[in-house]
This record gives sequence, structure tokens and C-alpha cells, in this order.
Amino acid sequence: MNANSSTARVALGLSDRKLDALLVSGAPNIRYLSGFTGDNGSLLITPERAILFTDPRFEIQAAEESPSCRIHIAKGPLTLDIVAAIKRLKLKRVGYEPARLTCDAYDSIESRLPMGASLEPVNGWIEQFRMVKTPDEIARIRRSVETNSRAFEQTMRRFRQGMTESDLAAELEYRMRRLGAEKPSFDSIVAGGPRSALPHAQPTGAKLRNGQLVVVDMGAIQDGYCSDMTRMLFIGTPPPKVKRLYAAVLEAQLAAVAAVRPGIQATKVDRAARQVLKGHGLDRFFVHSTGHGLGLEIHEPPRIGKRDKTPLEAGMAITIEPGVYLEGYGGIRIEDTIVVTESGGEILTPTNKNLYIV
Ligand code: ZN
Ligand code: ZN
Repeated sequence: MNANSSTARVALGLSDRKLDALLVSGAPNIRYLSGFTGDNGSLLITPERAILFTDPRFEIQAAEESPSCRIHIAKGPLTLDIVAAIKRLKLKRVGYEPARLTCDAYDSIESRLPMGASLEPVNGWIEQFRMVKTPDEIARIRRSVETNSRAFEQTMRRFRQGMTESDLAAELEYRMRRLGAEKPSFDSIVAGGPRSALPHAQPTGAKLRNGQLVVVDMGAIQDGYCSDMTRMLFIGTPPPKVKRLYAAVLEAQLAAVAAVRPGIQATKVDRAARQVLKGHGLDRFFVHSTGHGLGLEIHEPPRIGKRDKTPLEAGMAITIEPGVYLEGYGGIRIEDTIVVTESGGEILTPTNKNLYIV
């Protein structure tokens, strides 16, 4: 990430959007543009300058992380100082991020604007920049993926029957931190038996027992960047039905990965997975999108789903994660993190994709 060049890109695009400034409120967007990682900040970008507003707790950190910005330390609410800057710089049309700015902050700024100044909604502009990763960002995602996979493999060696879902989730998260992750990129999903049919189940105190299918969906954040992987375990000997379902989902996952290439619409990748499951009569059990972009956040555009027509571009990082969920029986999902290359899609996730018999 080059903070100078990304804020310059925004500054250059302001006039096209008929804006005098952009107020960036989303923490991942601020981090992307300025390097600042503190959890209280706002970034005001004008054609001439980028001003980072934060509070005294982050004074030293902001100067270190965001040398290309002018740092403004607010003694009270940031919004008051943002309004003061809008007045001082005589800004009229100030873009803001409706998906990121709280209603409270919006009201606080809007009610204090001078005559002739206005807040203008700007949707997804910075998110658009973030879709295509730089080589440095790809390197970070790769490290995050490797840490995540090693944490899974180390945890599998410690698996024993009678562990609870929570035990297993705790072990995964402990391992990933020991391996260099800052934290999990989302609450790890570990669900056994019929609960594996809940696509986003939270781990419980339930013991993992013989004869159960277990879904493990986990991700790490390392150097700020996310990874995401789902693998399936079977405790004991899997019945033919589980093997059949597993083979169908794997076939769908591989078909979607094979469809990944620059220029293809995100929705066509989704369709590749859906078509395979349809061939097995399982498409109605596939209740979510095939995947999502990831980077500084675990869910970023593009969405690899039924509606997103975004053409994939080299440098995008996405997941491919089809699944089938049979109520009362169990669910199967297989997920890798993938980077779009000039010639196709590279699976970053090194973990074997067989059903883990434990
Ligand atoms: Zn996942
Ligand atoms: Zn995912």
C-alpha cells in the first residue's frame, strides 16, 4: 500500500464527482488510504491535502503510520473539528460514506455546516479501489492463508472425540495467534452433526461424537489481511450418502475455481458452481453465494453470487465456497481463498481438500 498514491487517486477523482472533498469514515478505507490502524479516525481528502482526524490516544501512532497526512488531534468529538475544517477550507460539496458514517456523526456534522455547504453520499468508491490488490497486499493475504492452514493442520493433530465444538474453535484460534495472526478474521465456525447444516453456526459446548459430520470454517487476520477456509471432518466411517454429497460439493467448488479468470463476470463463476449442484439435484440446498472478495475485511466486493456482474480482474482476492445444507442431517461446504491471475485463478489455500476422516 502506498498511502501517498492512494489519497492522490481520490484527490484526482474529486472534480469528476463534483466534490470539493471526501470524508472517509470506514476504518478499513482509512487504513487503506492512510495506513492508520487506530479505531477512532476520520480522513478528509481535498485536492490539496489529506487530513487525518483522531484523538490524543493515537497521536504518536498516527504520526508513525500516516506520514503523508496532516494529523489533527481532536480534544472532543471528531465531528466538531471536521466541521471547523470544512469552514476553514471553505469546502462546499463534501462527499461522505453512507454505509460507514453513523447517523449520529452525520447529524452532528450536517446540522453545523455553514450555508451553502452540503454532505453528498458517495457509495463504495474506496471499496472499488480496494477490489484489485497490490502485490504487497496479495503477499499479505498469502501469509494470512498460510497461517490459517497451518493452524488447521496443527489443530487436526490434536483432535480427539469428545472435544466440544468450542474446544476445537479455541484451539484453532490459539494456534493461529501463535503462528503470527493478530486475531481470527471472524468468529470460527465449528458445528457437528445436524448443526453443520446451519451455514453460520456458532460453536457450542456440544461434544463432537462418532458418526458426525463437522464443518470447520476459519480465517486469520495477519498484517491486517484476511484469509478464509472451510474444511469438513467426519468422525468415524462416513456413510455413502456423505461421500456422495462431499464429491458433489467438491466438483462444484473445482468447477467454480476453474471458471475464475480475468474478464469473467462474478455471477458466471457462481453459476459454474450452481450448475454442477443442479446436475446432482442439489442446487436447492445451496442457499448462499459461491464466494466473496476479501482483503482488509472478510467480506468485500465483488460478491460471487447471482446478481453481481463485476468482471473479475487480475489481483482480486476472492473465496470460492459452495455448500449444501440438509436440514436435520448436516451440511457440507468447501472453501478456498483464491487470487485472480492474468491467466486464471490461483488457489492460495494449501490445505488438502479431502474429507478429513478423524
Ligand atoms: Zn469461510
Ligand atoms: Zn467465506
